[in-house]
Parts: sequence; C-alpha cells; structure tokens
Amino acid sequence: MIAVMGASGNTGRVVAETLLARGEKVRAIARHVDRLAPLARAGAEVAAGDAGDVSFLTRAFTGAEAAYTLIPPDLKASPFRAYQDRLGEATARALAHVDPARLIGDALMDQRIVAGVGNVYRSETLFLCGISPWRAVGAVTAGEAARLGRTASRLLADGVRHPGPITTYRPPDPRSRERTWVYGRAGRPCRRCGTPVVSRGMGDANRTVSWCPTCQR
Ligand SMILES: [Zn+2]
Repeated sequence: MIAVMGASGNTGRVVAETLLARGEKVRAIARHVDRLAPLARAGAEVAAGDAGDVSFLTRAFTGAEAAYTLIPPDLKASPFRAYQDRLGEATARALAHVDPARLIGDALMDQRIVAGVGNVYRSETLFLCGISPWRAVGAVTAGEAARLGRTASRLLADGVRHPGPITTYRPPDPRSRERTWVYGRAGRPCRRCGTPVVSRGMGDANRTVSWCPTCQR
C-alpha cells in the first residue's frame, strides 16, 4: 500500500488516481473526508485529518511501503515559513515513527526515502552531520533530519557540477588524491579528531559504511 498525502489536491489526486489505475493499493490522506469520496469510490482507503498532527500522520503512514508526501499549500497561513516548518517536521517525525528502530545509515540508502544517496555520500553526509550510521531513525531529531537532507543535497549537487571521482574533502595539498572525510579510510586517523576511522557492512546488501566513533554519535 502506498500512502498519498494531499490526495484531494492538484498533485496528490493525480498520484492516487494513477496508482489505483495501475492496480496499486492506495491510502488517500487529506484534511476533509468528503473531498476523498471520489477516491474511496475508486477503491482507495481514506484517512482524513490534520497534516500537522504527528499521531494522525503516523497512523496514516503505518503499513505503507512508500509514501507520497507534500506540504499542502495554505496561502492563508501566517507566517507561511512557520507553517511550512510545522508540517515538514510533523511529516518527518511521523515517517520516523513508522519504523523507529531502523538504522539511519540504512534509511539514507533507501531510494524510496531519499533519492540519489549512494554508498560514498551516505558515509560522508553522516560524518559531516556528526551522526552515527548506527543510530535508530527514531532517535534522530527533526533538526538533525533537516540537516542530513541539506547536507546530502549539497554534496549531490557538487557531484553533479564536478564529474569524476566523488570529492567531498579538499586536501590542503592540491596534488593529494585524498577526496573523502571517512569513506574508504578505515584504520586511518579521523581528519577532525585523529580517532581511527571504522568500516563495517550494513543492511541487507551489506554495503560498507565508514564512520568516526568519536565525532559521530
Ligand atoms: Zn573524529
């Protein structure tokens, strides 16, 4: 089942209808239950409530394999930025509650949650944010989650602008081939604190994650 937020709105409705037409099970989420009636007739489950309410959203996401999320536009909201922050945090918290024991290093590699983060970017993003890959998603704060998102998108954008080997670290000596903070540096001293960097396989695919046990908690 795929949960679709804003399912009575311009984009959510199209997402829900398209998924239903392809035979997917859909849970349509919106504020007003009457506006979800057409989707209910088309076979969707419906969940009506406030997208700023973490416990409502957690229930609405529970059991979903994927979720289409958005901040439903409210042009009367004032100040608008605060409204965006409140709904964005509620969505992030609800998604974390659905599977709170999952490891953040594993969740970051899930292309259904964050697109584009591969093995190198995962280790580098977590190092730059000071977060251990072995921390449970439920123990990551909303502020840390926002920072992870910003850091990953900055690194990915740099990668697109500069083709070639992934470079997240610029060594003082420009001739050096050192290009990362922690990835591929197992046993070598952390660039910030000197503690030896550790590497281990993680998740079903057992792909290597590298981290500094001192800088990352
Ligand atoms: Zn360190």
